[in-house]
Amino acid sequence: MGPAIVWFRRNLRLDDNLPLDAALRAHDGVVPVFVLDDHYLTEDFSPPRLRFLSESLGELASDLAAKGSRLLFRKGPAGDALAALARETDADAVYSHLDHEPHGTELAREAEAALAAQGTKLRLLPDLHLVLPGSLRTEAGKPFTVYTPYARRWREADKALPVPAPPRVATPPAVLDVRFPSIPMSRPAGFRVEGAPANPRGGEREGRRLRGAFRASALHRYAQARDLPGVDGTSRLSPHLRFGTVGIRSLLAEARSGWREADEAGRRSIEVFVGELAWREFYASILATFPRVLTESFRPEFERFPWITGELADARFAAWRDGRTGYPIVDAGMRQLAHEGWMHNRVRMVVASFLTKHLLVDWRRGEAHFRASLADGDPASNNGGWQWSAGCGTDAQPFFRIFNPVLQGERFDPDGTYVKRWVPEIASWKSAGGDLHAPWRASTPPPGYPAPIVDHAAARAKALAAFATIRAAR
Ligand SMILES: Cc1cc2nc3c(=O)[nH]c(=O)nc-3n(C[C@H](O)[C@H](O)[C@H](O)COP(=O)(O)OP(=O)(O)OC[C@H]3O[C@@H](n4cnc5c(N)ncnc54)[C@H](O)[C@@H]3O)c2cc1C
Repeated sequence: MGPAIVWFRRNLRLDDNLPLDAALRAHDGVVPVFVLDDHYLTEDFSPPRLRFLSESLGELASDLAAKGSRLLFRKGPAGDALAALARETDADAVYSHLDHEPHGTELAREAEAALAAQGTKLRLLPDLHLVLPGSLRTEAGKPFTVYTPYARRWREADKALPVPAPPRVATPPAVLDVRFPSIPMSRPAGFRVEGAPANPRGGEREGRRLRGAFRASALHRYAQARDLPGVDGTSRLSPHLRFGTVGIRSLLAEARSGWREADEAGRRSIEVFVGELAWREFYASILATFPRVLTESFRPEFERFPWITGELADARFAAWRDGRTGYPIVDAGMRQLAHEGWMHNRVRMVVASFLTKHLLVDWRRGEAHFRASLADGDPASNNGGWQWSAGCGTDAQPFFRIFNPVLQGERFDPDGTYVKRWVPEIASWKSAGGDLHAPWRASTPPPGYPAPIVDHAAARAKALAAFATIRAAR
């Protein structure tokens, strides 16, 4: 059979890569390509994400070269680029991964149409998730909208085993010739955005290193440590799962083999970790089934919620975004986000709750800011996390349950390691007592650090009153 094109998108690795494996098995050679389409510069744009993408592509290109192949770069739109490449290489099929996101679905539809017009097949294989988003149904045949029963079914569902990295990637000699067209990745101007050195590093090797480090230390105490932002208690694999520099099947296989060797506490931790992978798949399923959540609250009554607007909303949003709310745990989180392009999950929940419930700013503004700042920005998990925190999502934290940022700080960052790391005004402050999470209570508050933007009790009362208006109208 003639060669096949392997269209890399969000599976930027050689190990456990189903489309690559399938193409190599069925064809005499493959033509690896990455299409630089404008999507990366618009919807999927954030400097840390582009940095991660560009590091991962650079490494994938050299790993493919080491296996006797070559990663081509072509300018989008993807359908036209793939159809042209198929004609140039006599490829009869294009292999890639299924994508449940609205943009991915649209992209596949366009590519399929462009390829079908010339008789080239598009083969899309499940490679991003363990269970296809949207495929599980309740006993009544309905989509799941509550996590716990979803996770129960998800745990029982069949899951494919990982596939090994190919020893060689056979590629037609004409494609290996440097004269065969491929554009430099930095050609489209927007791809020159560089992010910052503190952003998560991309590439399959870094993904493997993080996995190894996590398995060796934090995985076995994950159940306790994952909620403590001052501790390295989580895997930090989220951008690797977003860009596929880590294979989800091999991650699960590793967790399972760790489970067999672990003691009771270790097993409990591994189960909690696998439960988090299920949250990722739950939100992917929600987005696949209810794409409207990208713009609307899952609970329709929240479309009438009286979010504040105008100058007050802008000023509050700016204080939150810049880490100047006067609540150390919130400010630490927002400053970590600005510096690293990543934030600890517990703190993501606290800052999202604070913006929506204490400051009454629409969750969509916070979600967009996260999307523009995170290296792991994922439409499904980001949207799910925001709607959960705002109380308007599937299986969400009820609106009336309002995190107290002082208690959250005292509980999850008891010695202030996290806030001191990210808020220098607090770190250099000689506080007399235990007011690290409520510095305004001290007789001499930290110089240069703002007073609280709102009073917790008063903000809570206002939030509940606002919530009552949509409840009454229900
Ligand atoms: C408001 C808000 C926004 C979020 N935005 C994103 C986002 O854009 N991209 C993203 O990947 N995650 C998002 N999350 C989920 C979670 O915060 C991150 O996945 C996690 O902090 C990543 O760190 P880690 O890799 O060390 O996680 P670990 O604790 O090591 O977890 C392992 C993996 O499980 C998945 N996971 C863990 N927790 C969750 C969760 N609550 N929901 C969905 N998947 C989860 C992630 O893929 C993660 O890499 C968001 C959560 C909230 C509350």
